[in-house]
Amino acid sequence: MSATAIPATTSSGQPVLILKEGSSQVKGNEAQRNNIFAAKLIAEIVKSSLGPRGMDKMLVDSLGDVTITNDGATILKEIDVQHPAAKMIVEISKTTDNEVGDGTTSAVVLAGALLENAEELISKDVHPTIIVDGYRKAADRALEILNEISVKVKPGDKAVLNHVAQTSMQTKLVADNSADLAALIVDALLQVADKNGEAGYKVDLDNVKVEKKPGGSTSDTKLIKGIVLDKEVVHAGMPKRIENAKIALINSPLEIEKTEFSAEIRINDPSQMKKFLDEENEMLKSMVDKVSSVGANVLICQKGIDDIAQHYLAKAGVLAVRRAKESDMTKLSKATGGRIVTNLEDLTEKDLGSAALVEERKVETDKWVFVEGCKNPKAVSILVRGGSQRVVDEAERSMHDALMVVKDVLEKPAIVAGGGAPEAEIASKLREYANKLSGREQLAVLKFADALESIPLTLAENAGMDPIDTQVDIRAKHGQGKKWFGINVRTGKVSDMMGDDIVEPAAVKEQIIRASTEAAGMILRIDDVIASGKMKAPPMPPGGAGGMGGMGGMGGGEF
Ligand code: ADP
Ligand code: MG
Repeated sequence: MSATAIPATTSSGQPVLILKEGSSQVKGNEAQRNNIFAAKLIAEIVKSSLGPRGMDKMLVDSLGDVTITNDGATILKEIDVQHPAAKMIVEISKTTDNEVGDGTTSAVVLAGALLENAEELISKDVHPTIIVDGYRKAADRALEILNEISVKVKPGDKAVLNHVAQTSMQTKLVADNSADLAALIVDALLQVADKNGEAGYKVDLDNVKVEKKPGGSTSDTKLIKGIVLDKEVVHAGMPKRIENAKIALINSPLEIEKTEFSAEIRINDPSQMKKFLDEENEMLKSMVDKVSSVGANVLICQKGIDDIAQHYLAKAGVLAVRRAKESDMTKLSKATGGRIVTNLEDLTEKDLGSAALVEERKVETDKWVFVEGCKNPKAVSILVRGGSQRVVDEAERSMHDALMVVKDVLEKPAIVAGGGAPEAEIASKLREYANKLSGREQLAVLKFADALESIPLTLAENAGMDPIDTQVDIRAKHGQGKKWFGINVRTGKVSDMMGDDIVEPAAVKEQIIRASTEAAGMILRIDDVIASGKMKAPPMPPGGAGGMGGMGGMGGGEF
């Protein structure tokens, strides 16, 4: 390893120690090559999972738990990456997931391609800062082109939202059910979305509660216009089903508060004992009386409910649930229109929420309480079902992506076609733009265009199409101004994706370009890796027995 520890010598030959003993430093080209190599490896890992014909990954963690997924962000979250540059690539899948929810694989593939192409330029002696500047210019122009070509749609257009959700789910395990699931997701979001002026909607995904339970099949997944609580009715004597429910939401306990200090009560007569207990009883009973006096027939309590109070509630015919989560209380309030009350004394009829039905139902082996049929719920639930735990887990992830893309389009109603069409179109326009530039910057912009093409080409490759033929074909189509031509994975041909209703949010494409350019730029600007004593220097680039071992970090070893 050519890593040099820093000790330098002064002109008089005195060594100057700057770093702690055991630190190491990798400089210049070698540092760059190492970083690019590690980042490219990460892109290689997720590449084969891109698109509808992408493969899934089976990930086994150190405890032996298995995750099966083709979601880029999840794959990279599960593998234990340690190389610092590789970590930066993992980061972009995370931020993309947080920002727009979809496109995580694409962002990583694009970053990998940008770095790979930069490496070629570096080997031709183009300085990295020139590449970084060229990439930045290209990205700015690419975003402008994206904005020009994207199709502005009517805010809240159901058909468009449906297609967007379907496209996102078509690349996943749930593809066969994507039509039904898309309709359900669009319904859920339109229900909780708030109008945000003329421009679009505002959506808080917290208002869609996603619960999952293995069993049944994916097609049993349901939208509940209300909230599902994974709690049972607290007392066996209570009703299990209440129609036209009037719901009290209480976030204080229906119990007698214990005193903070210890008190001693001396009793010399059994009747006094009885009186004392009766007193307690009375207090609990009056709490229950308060609940039923305002007309509530359902009580959801965030805290505990005393046994005696349960008994009185049961006698009064009230269905009660205790220890509901705080987040569920908020959602219940939004769904039923009820107000969360802290002081039971203050409870009035106006505070009660309403639902057509509150019912305890058996979901596989658990008993859950369904609060449903709310009139205009501002929070709803989706109950995800599927053949096994792993299926519901992956279904939930895919539905998260779909929820996010629908949210993206509700908030920013602009779409582009999928299948790599916008990437190919932007690449083609960028090449025209590059002609106006001079020298080495032009080279960088052209490489950026090539990198964008890696998206349609990877889709084609994963679908078993010939990469060279596809590249020639797609370039020719975009040269003829057919801007929505992309990879039709079903037919194995290049065709009009907009016509096939394969559409995606413009916001996702924007994020992909932004995130990957930033990460690539950041990695390219590093020409010095200084690792402190604990770690060894990053691995050597391939060439020899490199392979995956070069990643160092996979599986938790140090690098
Ligand atoms: P990501 O994590 O980047 O979203 P996906 O595996 O979901 O990765 O793949 C997304 C890519 O698949 C997008 O470029 C999208 O346009 C493309 N795609 C989705 N559905 C189709 C389809 N039916 N035909 C062709 N390409 C599709
Ligand atoms: Mg996707």
